[in-house]
Amino acid sequence: LAEKLQDTFNKLKGKGKLSEKDVKAALKEVKMALLEADVNYKVVKDFIKKIEERAVGNEVMESLTPGQHVIKIVNEEMQALMGGSKEDIAISSEPPTIIMMVGLQGSGKTTSAGKLARKLDKDGKNPLLVAGDVYRPAAIRQLQVLGERLDLPVFSMGDDSNPVDIAKGSINYASSHNCDTIILDTAGRLHIDQEMMEELESIKAAVDPDEILLVVDAMTGQDAVNVAKNFDQRLDVDGIVLTKMDGDARGGAALSIKAITGKPIKFAGTGEKLADLETFHPDRMSSRILGMGDVLSLIEKAEQSIDQEKAKKLEEKLRKNEFTLEDFMEQMEQVRNMGPMDEILGMIPGLGGAKQLKNMQVDDKHLDYIEAIISSMTPEERRDPEVINGSRRKRIAQGSGTSIQEVNRLLKQFRQTKKMMKQLNSGKMKKGGGFNLP
Ligand code: GDP
Ligand code: MG
Repeated sequence: LAEKLQDTFNKLKGKGKLSEKDVKAALKEVKMALLEADVNYKVVKDFIKKIEERAVGNEVMESLTPGQHVIKIVNEEMQALMGGSKEDIAISSEPPTIIMMVGLQGSGKTTSAGKLARKLDKDGKNPLLVAGDVYRPAAIRQLQVLGERLDLPVFSMGDDSNPVDIAKGSINYASSHNCDTIILDTAGRLHIDQEMMEELESIKAAVDPDEILLVVDAMTGQDAVNVAKNFDQRLDVDGIVLTKMDGDARGGAALSIKAITGKPIKFAGTGEKLADLETFHPDRMSSRILGMGDVLSLIEKAEQSIDQEKAKKLEEKLRKNEFTLEDFMEQMEQVRNMGPMDEILGMIPGLGGAKQLKNMQVDDKHLDYIEAIISSMTPEERRDPEVINGSRRKRIAQGSGTSIQEVNRLLKQFRQTKKMMKQLNSGKMKKGGGFNLP
């Protein structure tokens, strides 16, 4: 898949100007490549339609060539298709957190249980592996071996016990052995099977897991998606572990499963070793599929230069004294995107030690307040904060769930910032310095 898409995009990249025909031809190739990769037909159709609408419509971005622009859109839509951003597993506020692994036989449940235990152990948790597969010969032994290798406890009651009793028993065991997370391995079948589903439903009812992770084999392509749909209908799973991604050159399951089931892929298995489990990041997966590190970083740069353009506009606004609370919020957002405040300050020539800035204490929580407060203002108030009197302050504080003190603090900061920017602007800083500060 990656290769096909890259070919297509290489053709686009070179072109200066794209006609609607060029875009359509490229998208046709993308469509074929996706179908060959065993992505669900309906998913492909919707995907291409969305891109076409955006690419052929008038969503233009300065400083990108049209080809790059199409790639940017494909990349964004591909990320969205896989869920947008990464999803963590649910941690119970009252230990133990119970994670139940379900899936067909051979999908990689037991292996993934071990991998997950290793990961949680590294994250400072105390996981307990629970051998709930009493059917498959040597399934218990398999988990015990993993436990020994990881130096983590494994709870089992032999293979003549009932899986529901094992699941219940593991909770007592966890609390008496200081384990805060239970990873429950269960039995699968070769195909979707009534008996298996009923057993899993009884286990679910008995222990009320915080997280049901469905393990599916990426190599089975669209079958994996159908299996996922089935399991989800019966068990309402919370997330998916897509295994054997190392062997799946096509990537079809990764692209269809979220769209079809609505459930996010949380982890990807990338090999047989215990270390071969990755948190699933839709953005990384997408750029891996598109194989376009270079183009994507180019696009990032273009986006940055657009920020610079915003900064220039801002300078102009300042000169005309039109800097508003909305601009202030936008600036704050940009700062938030850039990273920790002190690092950013350090990067700005001549500003590293500015005292006023140190006093501003821009932390993430504070930015949340600022956003809430400004959102609770009327457009007029944002344009001209001078109109915000006592009763307005009270209303804004209530509307934003903050306090009058917070509102006052923000208004004061805004005034300071405006003043400071004016000073900077009137010669203390060289023109074109491109600063991005609130
Ligand atoms: P279960 O029946 O669902 O418990 O499946 P197992 O955990 O026993 O795994 C079945 C087979 O798949 C084993 O040979 C595993 O080593 C292999 N396997 C599991 N996950 C992965 C993976 O991410 N990549 C590869 N290459 N093999 C895997
Ligand atoms: Mg197993």
